Amino acid sequence: MIDRRCLLFSAAALAAPRALAQSPGKLSVLASFTILADLVGAVGGDRLAVTAMVGPGGDAHVFQPAPTDAKRVADARLVVINGLHFEGWMERLIEASGAKPRVVVASEGVKPRDNPDLHDDHGHKKQDRHGHSHAVDPHAWQSAQNVKIYVGNIARALAAADPEGAAVYAANAQAYGRELEALDAEIRAAVATLPQARRKVVTTHDAFGYFADAYGLQFIAPKGVSSQTEASARDVARIIRQIRTEKIPAVFLENISDPRQMQRIAQETGARIGGALFSDSLTAPDGPAPTYIAMMRHNIRELTKALAA
Ligand SMILES: [Zn+2]
Repeated sequence: MIDRRCLLFSAAALAAPRALAQSPGKLSVLASFTILADLVGAVGGDRLAVTAMVGPGGDAHVFQPAPTDAKRVADARLVVINGLHFEGWMERLIEASGAKPRVVVASEGVKPRDNPDLHDDHGHKKQDRHGHSHAVDPHAWQSAQNVKIYVGNIARALAAADPEGAAVYAANAQAYGRELEALDAEIRAAVATLPQARRKVVTTHDAFGYFADAYGLQFIAPKGVSSQTEASARDVARIIRQIRTEKIPAVFLENISDPRQMQRIAQETGARIGGALFSDSLTAPDGPAPTYIAMMRHNIRELTKALAA
């Protein structure tokens, strides 16, 4: 059985870009998820027809390709994946498709960080919230410096697949690299405005490890609270205790949809409730995070708003 949710995701991802993938004269590139598709587009511009296998809002960790997705792989000249065990389904899909597209691992050369999820409080090995037990944290794109490495890999791969465009790809990669440098500086400047003691948030996201390492914010997981299910009243009481003892100024809690629970946390702790942070997927073009750079700017805006003194 194919998960209904995943069917919806792949249907959404297929809809518009499919026609593009068949555009004559353009190099067809398939990226595993939206963030990579955006980076590929930034380097390739209109020489490419880029599509993302997992569309906006989809969860690439748990994506289950539909049988027809093998055709999308077969139609692609180049497939771009994150690597770091993020999208094992893509490797299996490529094999199942029988096609032999060039495959670029965008994260190659990035210094991987250990997956903090891998051990519970007692040092036991456990699975992450997606049911995987990866040795490394795959979310390397949460550091703009890492994304410069991604972009270099993508530009080289595009040039190898389409030598005529090599100069264009190199120039675009250089220009985008400057945007990434500016973004990186912007994030550092934003964090620098925050008092040292306030640079920590509680979040159920487990995707900000590279961001934390690069920019000096602390992301604290709520203790003993599953990020998969709606938090119970007992979970909320535990979160409140943790916020008080660790003096955490802000919380971004995805798994509490009950506004009364959130109000209780805010009232009893004085912590600010943050808005949505985007980690693994861009939004649709009319959403708050339609590109990688817009996503990072959105997140830093939300974080500084919640953490400002
Ligand atoms: Zn993730």
